[in-house]
Amino acid sequence: MLQKEKEIGLRAVGAAMAMAAAIQKEMTGSDTLTKSDRSPVTIADFAAQALICRALGAHFPGVPIVGEEDSQALRLPENREIFARIVRYLKHYDPALDEKLICDLIDMGGDRPDGTFWTLDPIDGTKGFLRGEQFAIALALIQDGRVVLGILGCPNLPAGSGGTLFWAIRGMGGWQIPAKGGIAARVHASARTETPQMKFVESYESSHSDKHTQLEISRRLNISSPPEQMDSQVKYGIVASGLAEIYLRIPNPATPDYREKIWDHAAGSLIVEEAGGRVSDIEGKPLDFAKGKTLADNRGILATNGAVHGRVLEIIAELAKGK
Ligand code: AMP
Ligand code: MG
Repeated sequence: MLQKEKEIGLRAVGAAMAMAAAIQKEMTGSDTLTKSDRSPVTIADFAAQALICRALGAHFPGVPIVGEEDSQALRLPENREIFARIVRYLKHYDPALDEKLICDLIDMGGDRPDGTFWTLDPIDGTKGFLRGEQFAIALALIQDGRVVLGILGCPNLPAGSGGTLFWAIRGMGGWQIPAKGGIAARVHASARTETPQMKFVESYESSHSDKHTQLEISRRLNISSPPEQMDSQVKYGIVASGLAEIYLRIPNPATPDYREKIWDHAAGSLIVEEAGGRVSDIEGKPLDFAKGKTLADNRGILATNGAVHGRVLEIIAELAKGK
């Protein structure tokens, strides 16, 4: 079940990882533009979305793709040079690709979430990508509001290794393989139950969560080292493979109306669950992927090894009551 989706998805994400890693090494300041929500987008975001949509469209025509990017900004005259760089990277994969075809590929990701669909974050953690740090390429297949396949490419995990690909098919465990090739191995969330030795991870960007409260929670858990910051769904990969026990994302009080995007959590959450961990929102509710492009009915995210999940939820509830 879903074997073809997994194989094609792994191949596409693997190719996009290699391309993104090459772009990251060669990045210059002029390779970035700013979207209308003021978030940055790079040539790698567009090129990776085009490459992955090309593979999905060829093998699974008719299955909608809900991707983070669209080609609108690329069509502006001031972004002509950026566009030319994207074309140059993509011509390595298919010399027939021209500007028109590339815009069409990127815009294949403009579908509405409905029934069975793919969701894609071509570069998750663009700010980490720009700092030369962690980022991820995240692809998931959602069926009727449930994530059934998650693929997560982490090009800089571990640093300097060539990267790791994680995946999970619902009911079939979480897996990883070195991006350079090798043997696939099961991943298992940490079996640790004593909190002082636990590792706690959170976003690097201060505006993406409530670091103040998260630090207080790690103190109440008696965790000896402070939360470690890193960008992107790499945090889910770290929890799934037992390298950390807690990934917490409490909404930042400055953006109370922000709703998590499905492509920021679909792949990673399934991989953690299939590795034996637990994922919910900060009230303990399961993530509901049937509410459109956002997790409209959820607040924040908690992903853990399972053992500590209930305790973290209790502390969050205590703090919410002002205790
Ligand atoms: P991370 O590196 O874990 O913070 O994840 C990066 C993702 O955070 C980006 O892809 C954005 O979609 C998302 N993001 C942007 N603004 C916010 C916000 N105010 N609160 C939570 N997440 C956000
Ligand atoms: Mg993202």
